[in-house]
Amino acid sequence: MPKRSLPSAPLACRPHDHSHCVSDALDSAERICARLGLRLTTLRKRVLELVWQSHKPLGAYDILGVLTEEDGRRAAPPTVYRALDFLLENGLVHRIASLNAFVGCNHPGEAHQGQFLICRTCHAAIELEQSSISEAIVASAKSVGFNVEGQTVEVVGLCAGCRLPQ
Ligand SMILES: [Zn+2]
Ligand SMILES: [Zn+2]
Ligand SMILES: [Zn+2]
Repeated sequence: MPKRSLPSAPLACRPHDHSHCVSDALDSAERICARLGLRLTTLRKRVLELVWQSHKPLGAYDILGVLTEEDGRRAAPPTVYRALDFLLENGLVHRIASLNAFVGCNHPGEAHQGQFLICRTCHAAIELEQSSISEAIVASAKSVGFNVEGQTVEVVGLCAGCRLPQ
């Protein structure tokens, strides 16, 4: 029996053709890099593709492991970290601090803060897009004289796919 799923459940926690997510993400990355005059090298693109292998955040060591297997020789950690930095700086991935891992951005190319619902069972990270949340954080911070420079909100719980009975 397939799992029931809420119609409103995000893609990340219901069955879907994930190859579309990957190809959309790679296409957007190509477009964004072309627009900004940045080079999406083979390695950067491959790392992005690996981060997008699912909706679960992936650690740098997992990425290194796959690249090493593909190449038959040990991938150099600094090269992979640089590729991840490039993807982070250009808003193509987000870093999930609580998992020390990276996840593909759902709306790259648009200025936004990272807001994630992280399922403690399947580890899917669902990206929210609620400017009211970041505005509330900025306002609260301001009231205590704090100037916000960046924010990544990580919320832990159970996703729709894991909550519903099988
Ligand atoms: Zn997907
Ligand atoms: Zn994002
Ligand atoms: Zn889940």
